[in-house]
Amino acid sequence: MTIPTSTRAAVLTRHGEPLELQELPLPRELEPGAVLVRITCATLCGTDIEIWSGRMTFPGMLPMVLGHEMVGEVIAVGAGATGGGGPVDALGEPIRVGDRLGWSESVCGACYGCTVLRQPVACANRGYGFLQRSDVPPYATAGLAEVAYVTPGAQKLRLPDDVPDTWASAAGCAAKTVLRAFDRAGGVRPGSTVVVQGSGALGLFATAVASISGAARVITVGAPASRLTLAGRFGATDTIDIAGGSEATIARVHELTGGRGADLVLDFAGAPSVGPEAIAMAAQRGTVTIVGSTGPTSDPIPLSAIMGKELTVVGSLNGDVSDYARSIEFFRSFAARFPWDDLFSAPCGLEEAGARIATMHRLGEVKAVIDPRLTASKESA
Ligand SMILES: [Zn+2]
Ligand SMILES: [Zn+2]
Repeated sequence: MTIPTSTRAAVLTRHGEPLELQELPLPRELEPGAVLVRITCATLCGTDIEIWSGRMTFPGMLPMVLGHEMVGEVIAVGAGATGGGGPVDALGEPIRVGDRLGWSESVCGACYGCTVLRQPVACANRGYGFLQRSDVPPYATAGLAEVAYVTPGAQKLRLPDDVPDTWASAAGCAAKTVLRAFDRAGGVRPGSTVVVQGSGALGLFATAVASISGAARVITVGAPASRLTLAGRFGATDTIDIAGGSEATIARVHELTGGRGADLVLDFAGAPSVGPEAIAMAAQRGTVTIVGSTGPTSDPIPLSAIMGKELTVVGSLNGDVSDYARSIEFFRSFAARFPWDDLFSAPCGLEEAGARIATMHRLGEVKAVIDPRLTASKESA
């Protein structure tokens, strides 16, 4: 078969402006361990929205192709990373043309974070979601392209047939971030009370995970009302609309927990007030996990309350391939447990991606789904 030498992609050239459909070159040769994939599904993440709007920005990051949750079909493979055979996925399975493949962050395998800490999220050279300029090789490594070059260091997984593209795609960031957060929190004690701050994709998925993990009461805090209704469908026993303000939200949690507060509070919201709210909502000897606070500003948290309640406060950063692999297994195991498809909008082509980012920005949909095969003009064969 002929291997494409270029690909159509939706490129962000300036923050806050419409994405540009461009024809990007593809590397002529695949490095050992690299794979070329025809994207069948990309789901948009909150981080994509933050990068688009400019709320998250790094010097020299543009132009870039957005999208770090994606799935595709392998159309070409490089040599094996160690020379012999072909590339293998994170589980050691050979990757072949025609395979369904998902992938996540790329890591170098050689830095202190990789070799001593052995935490891929701490890789000093981690490529993920934002280090993917479209004007330097390998040009198109992200989800909003017809064809993507999957780098040797990218954490790849051959996907089981019974996990649909949208779920597998969301496993690449949203779901793995949530599973890692529960892991970092030390899990859910059966019969306990969990508060989930945030009712976006992560908050809704976390609500489901808390429920499946045996929480007796799952309280989802967020907005707008439609999201809280959806939270109920994903296992929330109670919901609180943040429109009432911090004090009312905290008071309601105490009311729902007999005045004791929640055993576990997870931040998937990231608003400046989530820290002090989480501390105030946590029960004596409770745990607070910070996952969503990506912004530079947050309100001060009272250290005296952390001391007085003997709280455990932990941070959780995104996730690595172990969280990704477990997310795939999670969806497979609990496929029938919750209406996962309700998290996803109907797919659209690349030319609509910019508009869908704007809709997500307005909280008009939970997760937009891009299928580049639906892109109207197909002269780039
Ligand atoms: Zn993400
Ligand atoms: Zn590294």
